[in-house]
Amino acid sequence: MPITRRLVLSASAVLAAGALLPRRLWAVTTLTLGDLRIDTVSDGTLELPASFLTDRLPEAERAELIARYGIPADRLVNPVNVTLMRQGDRVALFDVGSGPDFMPTAGKLTEALAAIGIAPDDVTDVVFTHAHPDHLWGLLDEFDEPVFANARLQMGAAEHAFWTDPATPAAIGEAGQAFAAGAARRLAAVGDRMQRFEPEAEVLPGVRAVATPGHTPGHTSFAIGAPDGGVMVIGDAISNAMYAFARPDLPGGGDQDAAMAAQTRQALMARLADEGWRLIGYHLPEGGIGRCVRQGDAYAFVPEAG
Ligand SMILES: [Zn+2]
Repeated sequence: MPITRRLVLSASAVLAAGALLPRRLWAVTTLTLGDLRIDTVSDGTLELPASFLTDRLPEAERAELIARYGIPADRLVNPVNVTLMRQGDRVALFDVGSGPDFMPTAGKLTEALAAIGIAPDDVTDVVFTHAHPDHLWGLLDEFDEPVFANARLQMGAAEHAFWTDPATPAAIGEAGQAFAAGAARRLAAVGDRMQRFEPEAEVLPGVRAVATPGHTPGHTSFAIGAPDGGVMVIGDAISNAMYAFARPDLPGGGDQDAAMAAQTRQALMARLADEGWRLIGYHLPEGGIGRCVRQGDAYAFVPEAG
């Protein structure tokens, strides 16, 4: 294997992670499922203005919702939980975090993996829920080299088509321009290495793609195993624990199509609760692993920290 700047950097990342960082910070939550081991690994945090959420809430209800659900007035600090699934020789990631170019509090995935003894080249598979920066941009390092050089990469065909469509930057509106350019650049960089799948495809043994559109046009969740004990990696289909479970009808931060996202969220929550799936939410608290339980005519998130 050639010595690249990337290898040198990842070696120093291992040293830095081992020397300076408490292990607990990185390997957040663990769960086992037969011979599968699933961990959520932190990419850091996203620090966003509270308006990212509150501007989307219906104006007539806004003040009451902010008070009732304790939505911070100034700043949101969202966890970022990357799912790591290991089985035999397989080392699979669901999304890859933000990489070096999004925000200074995020992009810590490779250090987090180093702290639990996993090098980027050990990763055999990466599947993507969607192509937003905090999920996709970790694909390339600061020198624009692919980080997970040995991994098979997979993304839903509809999601890939949307972000590689030359018409998307004009269609997505001003706020989405940087997201569109960033996704297009990274998808171009990996080219045909990014394989595309359709809903219901078995993307990895025992792992099925579940279409959960709305947050983005081709947003996908992944069902690992079977109901009553299996795990659904839901990405940003449910993206906050403050009000999304109690009021799944309300828009989440960054939902591109609010109505479709709400419809998807309600159907997904019913399925999670009634079929007995655990879920892993990319921005949910305590490592993001938990259960969705019915509460009144809505739902609640019950974390299951390992
Ligand atoms: Zn996200």
